[in-house]
Amino acid sequence: MSPQPTRSLSEPLLQWYDQHRRMLPWRERPTLYRTVVSEFMLQQTQVKSMLPYFDRWMAVFPDFETLSHADEGAVVKLWEGLGYYRRARSLWKLAQQWVAADTKPTTSREWLEFPGVGPYMAAAIASIDFGERTVVVDGNVVRVVARLRQIETAFPNAGAAVKAIRPFAQELIPADRPGDFNQALMELGATVCRPKSPTCLLCPWLADCMGARNGVAEALPRIQRVNIEKITIPRLLAIDPVAGRILLQEGALEGRLDGIYELPVCAEPVPADWKPIATIRRGISNQQITEPVYESPAKQWRLHLAHKKTEPEWIPFQNLEQVPLSGPHRKWISGFLASGGGSC
Ligand code: SF4
Repeated sequence: MSPQPTRSLSEPLLQWYDQHRRMLPWRERPTLYRTVVSEFMLQQTQVKSMLPYFDRWMAVFPDFETLSHADEGAVVKLWEGLGYYRRARSLWKLAQQWVAADTKPTTSREWLEFPGVGPYMAAAIASIDFGERTVVVDGNVVRVVARLRQIETAFPNAGAAVKAIRPFAQELIPADRPGDFNQALMELGATVCRPKSPTCLLCPWLADCMGARNGVAEALPRIQRVNIEKITIPRLLAIDPVAGRILLQEGALEGRLDGIYELPVCAEPVPADWKPIATIRRGISNQQITEPVYESPAKQWRLHLAHKKTEPEWIPFQNLEQVPLSGPHRKWISGFLASGGGSC
């Protein structure tokens, strides 16, 4: 499988982008810092979900220097609700490394040396801010290019698809406006060449798209589904209504969410006579997580903790706003408190 010679496809795509691109803050007032922050926030997060976070972030940390001097807790707190907190810490470390660097990075190769920056982000930054002719390849781009070139190979996973599609994508990118081309390609995948029911009649590449011409576009790309891992995390709800406080634990899951508070995790097996007062289900990456929440009976919560690396803390209700809580737990805790649930 090798790239075929092609007539320029960049022109119609860039014309379409100039007319139809979404007005996004990092596009309308572009700076290197805004590109970097937007790319970190957009990993694993949709544009409409991260927009309020972007504005808030810029108001508090407007540039690399300010961010580099920030307190880690303040950085994590401002990221609260976006999830995948490792991104916040990497961005904070990146700012420190960038400020300390005598020679500032410009190429994708140099950007790869920075915390949290992978090939996709390095290509995005180098093309958008430094005009490097390097294409970005993510799930959106894989989909568009696989359809455009009718690549019917069955890929074992997303990583293999990215690797195979990259040369086809790279041959499309022009020397002129490579950053806009990359953003246009991502925009096309996000708004027109969607996974289901692509709106081909609105597509600037319709005349050249083999997948659309042959009626197979929607079935592409062919990527084997990853197995979803099902896990259960029993949670402990201990509320002291007299003192007006709730028991929370920082880094309740070993190795995950350091610096973030959640309901403590129960040791298993949970006592047979305990019944969950609520069960929450959510999906993160390829995990389907079920979290039954148990009320701790009569001050015995300490006996039932699964993880004691950090000591749980009683947090007064009025201080909850200042504590960095994972997004779902903030929602649940508000619900429990509003319904008067839990006691210790
Ligand atoms: Fe995607 Fe349709 Fe455009 Fe082909 S014509 S790239 S399938 S939206």
